[in-house]
Amino acid sequence: MTDESISNKTNCIFCKIVRGEVPAEKVYEDKDTLAFLDIRPNNVGHTLVVPKEHYENTYSTPDNVLCAVIKTAKKVAVAVKKGTGADGINITNNNDSPAGQLIFHTHFHIVPRFTDDGFKHWPGKEVREDTLKEAAEKIRKSL
Ligand code: 5GP
Ligand code: ZN
Repeated sequence: MTDESISNKTNCIFCKIVRGEVPAEKVYEDKDTLAFLDIRPNNVGHTLVVPKEHYENTYSTPDNVLCAVIKTAKKVAVAVKKGTGADGINITNNNDSPAGQLIFHTHFHIVPRFTDDGFKHWPGKEVREDTLKEAAEKIRKSL
């Protein structure tokens, strides 16, 4: 482990929650994952699911850890929907600052949604077919 990753782990707010050094409203925990309420929810019941190990984002999280996280996300999503009486659930995951990531410890948001909660989805863009083809080609080449 590098000095930088040791320092990240020590200072990371979600690692502190995992270690019990910072209080959080925990709703579920198993060997590899933890779920707790977001301190500044989009809607009440907004829950975060994290791996107990520190990884900065989805790209750097090992597949087996990510599988455990998404399994917990599914379990918690069902419970959040039932427990809050939500009409729907968004499961989201931000990676890198431009995509809105603020806390650099992998996490999935479980956001309860209500029919009239006022949130709008991002608008889709009208693009040409050759633009889509070009984008698909670049992505396929990057795999
Ligand atoms: P991101 O933008 O990185 O995807 O989301 C980070 C989330 O963590 C935000 O929704 C923010 O409200 C939440 N958050 C930040 N600090 C804390 C904290 O100390 N405790 C809890 N429970 N949530 C936090
Ligand atoms: Zn961390």
